[in-house]
Amino acid sequence: MKKAVYPGSFDPLTFGHLDIIKRAAKIFDELTVAVLDNKAKTPLFSVDERVNILKEAVKDIPNVKVESFNGLLIDYAKDKGFHTSIRGLRAITDFEYELQIAQTNAMLSKNQLDTMFLVTSVKYSYLSSSGVKEIAAFGGDISKCCPGFVADMVYEKYGIKRD
Ligand code: ADP
Repeated sequence: MKKAVYPGSFDPLTFGHLDIIKRAAKIFDELTVAVLDNKAKTPLFSVDERVNILKEAVKDIPNVKVESFNGLLIDYAKDKGFHTSIRGLRAITDFEYELQIAQTNAMLSKNQLDTMFLVTSVKYSYLSSSGVKEIAAFGGDISKCCPGFVADMVYEKYGIKRD
């Protein structure tokens, strides 16, 4: 069985992430979306909240699972038997950062963990979790950025009331 992991912060989940999830789920028999519990970052949503959001968003895609992990991706991947990590690429700025991570993971895992990049769909190329948070914090419209139930949760975090 071909399986892969899609690791990330997903704080919050956007349509860009969902697009990568749907496309990766067509390539692999089983895709695990893994929410990184990064103690160094102060997220808007807790790991449990992000896992629950993802579970709700992918509930109709049968071969997608959602989990969380902490520590190094290569250790989690080894533990779970993943040999492919999926990442999304938007722009050249993503590439430099992602190349470094991919090569570091290859080195640390002794080539046991490969990274596969899916290029963003043009319509989502401008989307980022940090952008969504910035817009929402000022009461802007994020309805084109993430599913409606996610947008509601983001506004609630910022104490923003919208109709
Ligand atoms: P991280 O903190 O690990 O970068 P993110 O949740 O920001 O976590 O992103 C997870 C992955 O999804 C990254 O590979 C990122 O490049 C990709 N990604 C984020 N937004 C988009 C988008 N709009 N289109 C395609 N890929 C995206």
